[in-house]
Amino acid sequence: MKTPEELVRPEILALSAYAVADSEGMVKLDAMELPYALPEALRARLAERLSRCELHRYPDPTGRRLRAQLAQRMRVPPGMSVMLGNGSDDLIQIVTFTLARPGAVMLVPEPTFVIYRTNATLAGMRYAGVPLRADFSFDREAFLAALRELRPALVFLAYPNNPTGTLYPAADVEAVIRAAEGLVVLDEAYHAYAGASFMARLAEFPNLAVMRTVSKLGLAGIRLGYLAAHPRWIEQFDKVRQVYNVNVLTQTAAEFALEHLSVFEAQAAQVLAEREPLAQALAALAGVTVFPSAANFLLVRVPDAARVHAELRRRGVLVRSFHGAHPLLENCLRITVGTPQENRILLDALRACL
Ligand SMILES: *Cc1c(COP(=O)(O)O)cnc(C)c1O
Repeated sequence: MKTPEELVRPEILALSAYAVADSEGMVKLDAMELPYALPEALRARLAERLSRCELHRYPDPTGRRLRAQLAQRMRVPPGMSVMLGNGSDDLIQIVTFTLARPGAVMLVPEPTFVIYRTNATLAGMRYAGVPLRADFSFDREAFLAALRELRPALVFLAYPNNPTGTLYPAADVEAVIRAAEGLVVLDEAYHAYAGASFMARLAEFPNLAVMRTVSKLGLAGIRLGYLAAHPRWIEQFDKVRQVYNVNVLTQTAAEFALEHLSVFEAQAAQVLAEREPLAQALAALAGVTVFPSAANFLLVRVPDAARVHAELRRRGVLVRSFHGAHPLLENCLRITVGTPQENRILLDALRACL
């Protein structure tokens, strides 16, 4: 009998599973979740709504009602289609598997969201990264040169980028979309915090898809992402999507959330109001560099990230270390913006261990 190591595809053997730290009892500032739970007043109403779900039936396979509601509330331009995913992670996988023809290339700026690369590997797609500049700004000339050389079938631009927080200039994004012969997916996971989006311009570009998630807006637990693009793209992606990829509880909870969108937006606005004060307080600490962010997190460089990360953890604060993940991220920590109280705890802990 052969061992798993002999049978498993070598590129999968070489991967490591996505690590999620144990956060029991911690101040959790590692995963860009909204720090506010669903308000008490809405809980009973949501429970009532969920209790009416037909759990004995399969869900609507494409989530027609939810898609229509999303298209309206998120101002998807007329004539464009929306596809739902079990989180945007699911959508990244669907798009990648659909375009992974033999020899096809995925191109991304680096450092960025690692799930793009994981999916390229799983789909057998060639992967290439173009480094951002040392200050994490977009290197337009280098990226356009790579586009010409590699002619990727698929480009992912996280807008703003994770883990750097960078919002690339709209003119650079537009130049990439115009120069690309393949599909450009703008990953707008942080749109609620960014104050910028290409959604309104979607119909201008036949090779653009805009992807979003409700995860960073207070609903990470329900797992829902959506992708808006020209119907010709969605028609193909729909063949790769698992038929019932978004369950009925998620569809119902998301419909409920969209009816109360202003509640979630108000909570996001509270987080956004904390971002600059936190950035300034962090920058005032000796030895700490804070990079500009258009998302609900801040990337910082500290003198010794491994030690600071462990020290913070010992003091009950969980942040994410990116030291070792990419050469440009040396000694970098990513800190989710929390409640005012959580941010104070973080600052006190950081002051104590620097
Ligand atoms: C968090 C994040 C996602 C994942 O979203 P889910 O909907 O929770 O799967 C996708 N893209 C980027 C850039 C992210 O930071």
